[in-house]
Amino acid sequence: MNTRTLSGITILAAALGAVACSSTAAPTAPLDAPALADAVQLDAVVGHLQELERIATENDGNRALGTAGYDASVDYVAGKLRDAGFDVQTPEFDVTSFDVENASLTVDGAPVELRVLAMSPSTGPDGITARVVRAPADDTPGCEATDYDGLDVAGAVAVVDRGVCPFSVKQQVAAERGAAALLVVNNEPGPLAGGTLGEDGDTLIPAAGVSGDDGTALAGAGSVTLIAETTIEDIRSRNVIAQTATGDTGNVVVVGAHLDSVPDGPGINDNGSGVAAVLETALQLGSDPSVTNAVRFAFWGAEEIGLVGSTRYVESLSDEERNAVALYLNFDMLGSPNPGYLVYDGDDSDAVGAGPGPEGSTAIEQTFRTFFDSRGVAADGTDFDGRSDYGPFVEAGIPAGGVFSGADERKTPDQAGKWGGEADVPFDPDYHSPQDTLGNIDRDALAVTAASVGYGVGTFAQSLDGVPTGAARDQERSGN
Ligand SMILES: [Zn+2]
Repeated sequence: MNTRTLSGITILAAALGAVACSSTAAPTAPLDAPALADAVQLDAVVGHLQELERIATENDGNRALGTAGYDASVDYVAGKLRDAGFDVQTPEFDVTSFDVENASLTVDGAPVELRVLAMSPSTGPDGITARVVRAPADDTPGCEATDYDGLDVAGAVAVVDRGVCPFSVKQQVAAERGAAALLVVNNEPGPLAGGTLGEDGDTLIPAAGVSGDDGTALAGAGSVTLIAETTIEDIRSRNVIAQTATGDTGNVVVVGAHLDSVPDGPGINDNGSGVAAVLETALQLGSDPSVTNAVRFAFWGAEEIGLVGSTRYVESLSDEERNAVALYLNFDMLGSPNPGYLVYDGDDSDAVGAGPGPEGSTAIEQTFRTFFDSRGVAADGTDFDGRSDYGPFVEAGIPAGGVFSGADERKTPDQAGKWGGEADVPFDPDYHSPQDTLGNIDRDALAVTAASVGYGVGTFAQSLDGVPTGAARDQERSGN
């Protein structure tokens, strides 16, 4: 084979496919990580992005959970993998989606900023206008029915401080005392972002949060009008899973990217770029490569509403199946227009945010740093902040890592100095917007970050140096 090893391999794999039935077929050359990295070509990756953009354009401009755009994305990825000889599964999972169509709060006629708690039932278009009852600020604010003793809560809007017990409990207690709605006052500066009533609790009355400052105004209010028009929908969605027919199934390398976009846009950088790079790596690797470890490609649904597809997947694994997963590689946003070259900080060497990943994550981080060094790029670390699909794997004690080109965080002057682009500007100014289109992709960055997927897969498909096997993890966990 010549330096065009790559195309040699692809051609060879294809040739193999053709002659697979004849037992005399020459064995496939062992996979070479740099060669697979080179095989993940920008043109092919952009080709997948063009298809995902066409899909979004033909389906109301997005590929979000529960939409025709998402289903068409599943069909596209699964179709490509099947054409390449993979046995493709599309396991289903149920998810409750929540959407706020319209929301506002007026206090004695003056508008106040609010954040509707996720899974809050709807007030309807007219909203709820009622007097305010303030639960006393005690050690467990609004967590017990007795907190409302002596207060006429029936039909009122209950106002309670954040803290100690979950929002769902505060909602339940107030509802049981007859409150028409609940407003939670944040105990931190700023709006109460990211609050939820949870998927398991009873959603009884509409609930929202206000900032600490606005809480004070609320306490003395005569009447408020809360409008929270929400929709709660049970949706059945799918992941796409495809594994090589070759390689050790007791030490599987799982490689994932989420396939859904937000409802607001086509999601070409977030996360068409990750999908395209992982898909192209799978197509270049082929369904039966000469590898030591089996490789499982995963395209997750419902990431944008809380990592649901990947979480359901990890939850669905038996102990044995979980132990058979040697590691997880995540690719979520690889083509940011003001690009960063970021590697998940497996050993927590940056000492910010979350701690190190499970044992083995350091070796994964090092592998991607080695790749970027080989391309003349000095990568930076990025925190395991739980904002992407490595979350459930890390939680399950599975070593994880991957590459990221940045989202709404701002590029630092140092980073601009070494990577180019603009300092103090978000890596992706069009993050989660209708403008996250093909035009939002930095192709020079994507050429390198997409190749890193090939390098990572190629490395760990051949060797798990520095990564404990699932069995070793299990022993560690059971203390033997
Ligand atoms: Zn994403």
